[in-house]
Amino acid sequence: MSIKIHLPRSIIYLGTAAVTLILIIFLYSANRDNGSRSLQKMQRESYLLGTIIRITLYGEDSKKLNNVLDLSMKEIERLENLLSVNIPSSDVSLVNRASGEYPVKVSEEAGSLLERAIEWSERTGGAFDPTVGKIVKLWGIGTESAAVPDPEQLKEAVDMTDFRKVSVLHEVNGTFVQTAKGQRIDLGGIAKGYITEKVKALLINEGVSSALIDLGGNIAVFGSSPKPGKWKLGLQHPFMPRGEYFGIAEVSDVSVVTSGAYERYFESGGIRYHHIFDTATGYPALSDLASVTIISEDSTDADALSTALFVMGFERGISLLRELKNVEAVLVAKKTEGTIVYVTKGLSKGFLLKDPAMKKAPEVQ
Ligand code: ADP
Ligand code: MG
Repeated sequence: MSIKIHLPRSIIYLGTAAVTLILIIFLYSANRDNGSRSLQKMQRESYLLGTIIRITLYGEDSKKLNNVLDLSMKEIERLENLLSVNIPSSDVSLVNRASGEYPVKVSEEAGSLLERAIEWSERTGGAFDPTVGKIVKLWGIGTESAAVPDPEQLKEAVDMTDFRKVSVLHEVNGTFVQTAKGQRIDLGGIAKGYITEKVKALLINEGVSSALIDLGGNIAVFGSSPKPGKWKLGLQHPFMPRGEYFGIAEVSDVSVVTSGAYERYFESGGIRYHHIFDTATGYPALSDLASVTIISEDSTDADALSTALFVMGFERGISLLRELKNVEAVLVAKKTEGTIVYVTKGLSKGFLLKDPAMKKAPEVQ
């Protein structure tokens, strides 16, 4: 039985730290404010969070922009060290090592993010669940040891997946997390969104007025686009190689996050197993969606929601979207009549379908 491991650019888990940094700087002129100022584009690419991340800044002072890029990379590393399930000294690993035996003191930041993850678990009826860690570990997707788990062990992991058994306590002497015995926390479905928000806040605080943050496909833009009009973001085609887009979203001051089965998977016995799990079965979610793109102001919410909607599938996903304000989505659905693209009403003018083989359905929500 041959096992093929596929490792694309996007993250599944918060992985190893980067070693290589590529710095690209180039100048271009823009006629934005007074028609004469020369804007600079500064871009930094790195391997962090188990994926390629890229931050692009626009401004006038290249030295300042370069310093801000340094700070951004440090902030991402700091957060990876706090939140990664794969870094033994992270807050998440401390909680997981205690394995429910005792409450673990964590940073306020990690505790609050876990609370946000639990809130989304409640809103999605457990489709999103940060206690999915035992299931994630058993499958090992994205690692050398990826394999279909033993059904007994998988059943145990499913039994341990229950966000209701986790409590986050904010005491006077710090924040504490208590899980049930044997539970394992994994923030892989929400952490990149949170880190995107933190980088955005840092950039704004440092006076950057225009930027694109791309943490392995978890994108946020703010300020004016370097080209006339809004920012134009290509949405990854779920059935084509990385970099091929099925459509373009025209947006400003939002986060755009996509989840799909194509992101990370392995093949065994002719079956493809991907990295977004149905918490009820422990198996990769048998979604009728090929990909889910969420567009919302907050990247943490967009990240949790894109993972959740993928698990929930089209019908449940749409009814959740109806309950949410200021959240837009592009859902690529696999139907018997072909691949159908559903776009929420608020985005209808901001989405352009590029793949002629896909059909756009009337707007939803
Ligand atoms: P990506 O990391 O590829 O951008 P997602 O944001 O959808 O994609 O997150 C997938 C990751 O979330 C998995 O690698 C795993 O760590 C975690 N995960 C998998 N299934 C679930 C789930 N049902 N609920 C919460 N987190 C999940
Ligand atoms: Mg996610």
